[in-house]
Amino acid sequence: MPDRLAELRQHLSDIYDLRAVAYLMEWDQSTYMPRGGAPARARQTALLEGLVHERLTDPKLGRLLEDLRSYEERLSYDSDDASLIRVARRDHERAVRVPTSFMSEAYGHFAQTYQVWMEARPANDFQAVRPYLEKSLDLSRRYAEFFPESEHIADPLIAEYDHGMTASAVSKVFADLRAQLVPLVEAVTSQAPADDSCLRLQYPEAPQWEFGLDVVRRLGYDLARGRQDKSPHPFTTMFSIGDVRITIRVRERDLGEALFGSIHEAGHAMYEQGVDRGLEGTPLAEGTSAGVHESQSRLWENVVGRSRSFWSFYYPRLQAVFPEQLGEVSLDTFYRAVNKVQRSLIRTEADELTYNLHVMLRFDLELEMLEGKLAVRDLPEAWRERFRTDLGIVPSDDRDGVLQDVHWYWGFIGGAFQGYTLGNILSALFFEAALQEHPGIPDEMEQGEFGTLLGWLQQKIYRHGRKLTADELAQRITGGPMRIEPYMSYLRNKYGALYEV
Ligand code: ZN
Repeated sequence: MPDRLAELRQHLSDIYDLRAVAYLMEWDQSTYMPRGGAPARARQTALLEGLVHERLTDPKLGRLLEDLRSYEERLSYDSDDASLIRVARRDHERAVRVPTSFMSEAYGHFAQTYQVWMEARPANDFQAVRPYLEKSLDLSRRYAEFFPESEHIADPLIAEYDHGMTASAVSKVFADLRAQLVPLVEAVTSQAPADDSCLRLQYPEAPQWEFGLDVVRRLGYDLARGRQDKSPHPFTTMFSIGDVRITIRVRERDLGEALFGSIHEAGHAMYEQGVDRGLEGTPLAEGTSAGVHESQSRLWENVVGRSRSFWSFYYPRLQAVFPEQLGEVSLDTFYRAVNKVQRSLIRTEADELTYNLHVMLRFDLELEMLEGKLAVRDLPEAWRERFRTDLGIVPSDDRDGVLQDVHWYWGFIGGAFQGYTLGNILSALFFEAALQEHPGIPDEMEQGEFGTLLGWLQQKIYRHGRKLTADELAQRITGGPMRIEPYMSYLRNKYGALYEV
């Protein structure tokens, strides 16, 4: 048996490394590669994705997993070996449903679509990208057809990001959340908006960069196993547990962009740096789902990074870096500024309260497209209509409308958005549990200490990697399934105090 296990480990380690090479090429493409490298890079990425899919669907892998079944059954569910076999089988069984030729066709198409979108967005030209998006929708529907047992056509796409979730489960959570969130948004936005002009002064790039890096280092992002670079769209990527990188973008007239971007991405990165070293080189060595991943970025960015405790420690330090801009601005004004609520057009710039409305409308539009109820040509108008009803504002063009997010333009349509709101819900669920065990966490944050919180997250979530699913984590941490109550009470307490509602 150990022989078969060693063979399995080797096979999976090769897949892991091929994938890491693909990630490295994508990281390079998004940071330092000259534009001229794009055509060759698309070809190279497609080749690697093909190799990964080939290894993942290799019948030899299927046989190894079959041979190891009785060994797995003798082990405890949580053991590294049982988890490795279980998760590898899940990945293998999903992958073999989809022919390699289909995946190559899809990824080739997505690479082209992305290039077209890169020009179409600044040019506000939805028509240029429309035929590509139509093909993406067709590919997404065909992908779903490889899983005919699914209850809803979006289920296989959702499962890619959030294993265990389905269209109906997400729709139910979103409906419950919406019912409570909308009245709170109404109450807050009917008041005078916070003054955030202090964030829009001139802030030179270099000290912004240094300050953010200093913050994430203190939070616990290990720079001996990570680094920060610039890219137009911030992201986190992992080549091994010993090399988890973040990128951010800096704007000189928006202090929040780089700072909260750093904290957000460091949240993702600390999760992956915290995976048990023994899982290195296996499919267990990454975050378990989009929702849990986003729960960590949002926990550090919002629950910690936009809290009063955090700023009572950091604000004097920030003032010392930017005395001309912030010397006369009070902590209270600054705290309100970084928590300003307003109905806005761009998801990535939305505040904590309205953010989920942006996510929900995208999720609903995806379902309608996949169900065949909404044609791509009618998407821009459907987008405007949903903005009118959900946020009470309408984008004046498609650039700030349907073209704003990359997700539909570089992959399948479906599944890529719900994780953001599931992450918000989980961030509060997990933070509440951490506070119950360690009520001193906010006091520690006021002293610039984050070790108790990080240690708790590492112990309960990070070290497991993909050994436990989102649902299993929630069960073990809270004794029950995911619930929205902790998130709603977090929002009510915080924004109730800020806006007196
Ligand atoms: Zn994120």
